[in-house]
Amino acid sequence: MRTVRLPDGNSLPALGLGTWNMGDAPARREEEIATIRLALDLGVRLIDTAEMYGEGQSESLIGAAIAGRRDEAFLVSKVYPHNASRRGAIAACERSLKRLGTDHLDLYLLHWRGAVALEETLEAFLRLQAAGKICYFGVSNLDLDDMQAWYALTGGDGVATDQVLYNLTRRGIELDLLPWLRARHIPLMAYSPVEQGRLLREPRLIDFAHRHGISPAHAALGWLLAQEDLIVIPKTSRRAHLRENLHALEAPLSPAQCAELDALFPAPRQPVPLAML
Ligand code: NAP
Repeated sequence: MRTVRLPDGNSLPALGLGTWNMGDAPARREEEIATIRLALDLGVRLIDTAEMYGEGQSESLIGAAIAGRRDEAFLVSKVYPHNASRRGAIAACERSLKRLGTDHLDLYLLHWRGAVALEETLEAFLRLQAAGKICYFGVSNLDLDDMQAWYALTGGDGVATDQVLYNLTRRGIELDLLPWLRARHIPLMAYSPVEQGRLLREPRLIDFAHRHGISPAHAALGWLLAQEDLIVIPKTSRRAHLRENLHALEAPLSPAQCAELDALFPAPRQPVPLAML
C-alpha cells in the first residue's frame, strides 16, 4: 500500500476506508464486516471512524471486524466537539477504545471546532499521547484560520493531519488551506472523496470515465491519489466497490488524465470557506 509521510517521518497509508453510516443497519452487518476484513486482506489498513457515527455503532462494528487483527489496522477516530474538553476528551477516548476493543488509537481527531477552547483539546490529546492511548493526534474541518490557531499552540505543531472535505467538486482548499499544510509537511486527509456517491452520477465524470475505460470511482479517487501527500478515505460497505476503489491505486491516472479532470472540474478562482458534510 502506498504511504504518505507524516511530519515526524513516519508514514500513513494513502488509501483508507471510511465508515460513516456503517453499523447502523443489522441487515447490512455481515457484508460490512466482510468489507472491513477484505480491506485488511488487501492492505487497506487505515480505517476511519468517529464516536458520532451511529453514536458508537460504527466503532463497535469495526471492533468486531478487526478482532484478532488489531495490529493490521491503523485506527482513526474522532471526538465530538462537545466532548473535547480537558477531561471530556480523555473519557470519550476511553469509550471509543472500549467499543473498538483496543488499548490505543493510531490517530485521534477533533471532529470539528466547537465551543471548547482548542488549548483544552490539545492538552487532552497530549496527555492521551503520553499515556500511550493514542499514537498521533489531529484535527478535522479546520479551515486555515483555525488551523493556524491550533498550530500556534504549544505542542500544536505535532498535528498529524487535517481531515477535510475535498474532491473534484470541492476544490476551494487548493487556494489557501492546502498550500499552508503542504508548506509544513502536514498531510491532508480527504473525506467524502466521491461526494457521498453524488460525484459518481455526475455526467462530466461518467463521460470521462467512459472515454478512458475506467469506472467513475477510479477516476475520482485517482485524481486525488495523484497528489502524493493526500490520504483518501472513501466509504464503502460493499466488497465489490472496495475492489473497484483500489483500482485507483493499482492503475494511477496519467498526468494528462489528471489535467483533463482539472479542466472539467476547475478549482474556484477565489477562496471559499471550507464546507463540511
Ligand atoms: P464518500 O466516501 O465520498 O461516499 C460514500 C458513498 O459512495 C457511499 O454511498 C458508497 O456506497 C458510495 N461508493 C463508494 N465507492 C463506490 C463505488 N466504487 N461505486 C459506487 N458507489 C460507491 O462519502 P463519505 O462517507 O461522506 O466520506 C468518506 C468517509 O470520510 C466517511 O465514511 C467518514 O469516515 C469520513 N468523513 C468525515 C467527515 C468529517 O467531518 N471529518 C465528514 C464526512 C465523512 P456503498 O457503501 O454502497 O459502496
